[in-house]
Amino acid sequence: MSDQLIRSVKGTRDILPDETKRWQQLENQLHYHLSNYGYQEIRTPAFEQTELFARGVGTDTDIVSKEMYSWEDQGGTLLTLKPELTAPVVRAYIQHNLARITPLTRLYYIDALFRRERPQKGRYRQFYQFGAECLGSPYPEADVEIISIAYEFYKSLGLNNITLQLNSIGSTESRKAYRTALRLFLEPQANALSEISRKRLATNPLRILDTKIPDEIELLKNAPGISDFLTPEDQRHFAEVQSLLNTLGIPYKIEPRMVRGLDYYTHTTFEITTSALGAQDALCGGGRYDNLVETLGGRPTPAVGFAAGMERLLLALEAVDKIAQEPQASVYFIAIGAAARSICSKYAAQIRLTGIASEVDLLRRSLKAQMREANRSGAKVAVIIGEAEVAKNQALIKDLSAGVQKAVALTDITNYITNLVQ
Ligand code: AMP
Repeated sequence: MSDQLIRSVKGTRDILPDETKRWQQLENQLHYHLSNYGYQEIRTPAFEQTELFARGVGTDTDIVSKEMYSWEDQGGTLLTLKPELTAPVVRAYIQHNLARITPLTRLYYIDALFRRERPQKGRYRQFYQFGAECLGSPYPEADVEIISIAYEFYKSLGLNNITLQLNSIGSTESRKAYRTALRLFLEPQANALSEISRKRLATNPLRILDTKIPDEIELLKNAPGISDFLTPEDQRHFAEVQSLLNTLGIPYKIEPRMVRGLDYYTHTTFEITTSALGAQDALCGGGRYDNLVETLGGRPTPAVGFAAGMERLLLALEAVDKIAQEPQASVYFIAIGAAARSICSKYAAQIRLTGIASEVDLLRRSLKAQMREANRSGAKVAVIIGEAEVAKNQALIKDLSAGVQKAVALTDITNYITNLVQ
C-alpha cells in the first residue's frame, strides 16, 4: 500500500459491516434488559472539562495521571475526551437536578470512551462500555440490583463461565484505620516495592493493592485485610448484600484485596470476570460510591453502579460461540432488462413495507452474476424477472435454501413471499 495512505490511529478500530450486526444485536438486548429493570438511557458529550475527571476519577489513578486525551482549546479551556462514564453521568445528574424528579434515579448508558493504554487484544484506546448507575439509595438492595443487572445480562446471553468477585471496603472511617495499618505493614518492606508503589505508600497506600507486579502481589498476601477494619454498620451492609445475592441464587467469591483506592468509593466493590478470555479477563467492574456526588458539588447522595466493556463481551461470546447469527429473512431481486428493473424496484419497495428486507441489483449484471450475489448475500428468497416473465406478468420465485422455484403472478408475489419467509 502507498505511503500516502492514512490509517486509523493505533489502538482504535473500525467496526465493519460484518461485525456491526452483532453490535446492533447486543445494543438492542441491552436497551431491552436495562429498561426491564426501570433504567433510562442518558447520553453525555464526548468531551468534558478536564477538571471533572481530575476530581471525579482522582489524580492518583492511572487513568488521570497518564491515560487521558486532553488538550487546551482555542479559548484556553482544558478539555478531555471522556475516559470513563460515571463522572459525566454524575455531573449531568447534578447539573440538571435529576433528584428533583424522583428521589431514586436509575440511569444507563452505552458509549465510547478513550484511554491511552497499551493496545492489545481486548484493550483499545477507543472502546465501548455499557453501564448503569443507581443514585439515591444507601441500601444493600441497590448494590444487589446493580450486580444482578450485570450478572443476569451475561447469563441471558448464555455466558456461563463467569465469576462474580465481591468485597466491601466499608466507610470512609473504616478505610482510614485500614490505611494506617497497611502503611505500618508496608513501610518496613518499602525497599521491595516498585517506585510507583513507594510513592503511593505516602499518598494512597490502598492503591498498591491494585498492583500487577508478581513480587508485590506475593508480598501483599500477608498484608492485613480490609475486612478486619469494617465497622459493625459496614459489616451489616456487606452481610445483607451477600444474603440478597444468596436469595437471588447469584454465586460470588469474596476477594478481600479488591479495593478502590479513592475516597468516594464505599462499601461494595465487585468485578465480573470470565475464563473465556485471556489476560484481559475483566468483563465488568462496579461498586458503591456514596461520596462522589458531593465531591462533584452536589448534595450528599448515595449511589452505586457498574461499567462493562462491550468489545470484551463480544470476544467472550465469540469464544464460547454464543453469537446468535440471525438468518436474515431477506429477498434478492434479479432483473434482466429495463422493464424488469422497474418492476423489481416497485415490488422490492412493497415488500420492504411488510418489514422484510429486500435488495435489488444496481450494477445491471448478468443473470448469472446476480444469482451469485443473491446466494452470497444470505437472502432466503430470489425473485427473478426476465423478459419472458415481464410478458406474462409473472416472477420466478426461488427459495434459496430449499432450491425450489415457482412462477407466481406479480399481483401475488408479496403474499407469496411473506408466507415463504415466515
Ligand atoms: P473500568 O472502567 O476500568 O472499571 O473498566 C470496566 C470494564 O471496561 C472492564 O472490565 C473491561 O471490560 C472494559 N475495559 C476497560 N478498559 C478497556 C480498554 N482499554 N479496552 C477495552 N475494554 C476495556
